[in-house]
Amino acid sequence: MNGVSPQTLTAFIGLGSNLESPIAQLKSARLAINALDNVQELAFSSLYASTPMGPQDQPDYVNAVMCVATSLSPLDLLHALQAIELEHGRVRGVQRWGARTLDLDVLLYGDQQIDTPELTVPHKGIAERAFVLVPLSDCDADLLISGKGKLSDLLRNCPSTGLRRLNNYESSS
Ligand code: ATP
Ligand code: MG
Ligand code: MG
Repeated sequence: MNGVSPQTLTAFIGLGSNLESPIAQLKSARLAINALDNVQELAFSSLYASTPMGPQDQPDYVNAVMCVATSLSPLDLLHALQAIELEHGRVRGVQRWGARTLDLDVLLYGDQQIDTPELTVPHKGIAERAFVLVPLSDCDADLLISGKGKLSDLLRNCPSTGLRRLNNYESSS
């Protein structure tokens, strides 16, 4: 270090779970993310229930989006999130989009566009996933998504079939 503090950027994290008390998994993940050094919560969306992508023989998901301020690099943030996934019992199976206790994806990292084998930002599926776009909009309805345009335009073009906002009573369980 040369005494200059690293730049702090705004990042958005997608949270999802469909095993072992999904709502509790997301609440625990939120606490764990907040406990990371150099990461601070700015906003947290409502919780949503969504029907699964890919294999249909699995439970519905609970999804949310968290907005954070962070001075971690994009890869350090990804690795910190992967460690939290593992702490929450995430098992990487052979089946793509199979059931999981916790999925934490880096949706956006400032306005950066990153395309490496390990990390793609904005997240590849962002524009087609209502379970990402709707909670993103809870955090910041005026968001501009680097390379993809206005969040409000993406939302208009994305069917929200299968997505249901959980009310406070459901979210408290
Ligand atoms: P999807 O990425 O389509 O939502 P998934 O979340 O189920 O699917 P994972 O098994 O969690 O996929 O991750 C597979 C790989 O995706 C990880 O090993 C990671 O390196 C890579 N990856 C690329 N871009 C991202 C990103 N923006 N956020 C999280 N992981 C990413
Ligand atoms: Mg994912
Ligand atoms: Mg993932």
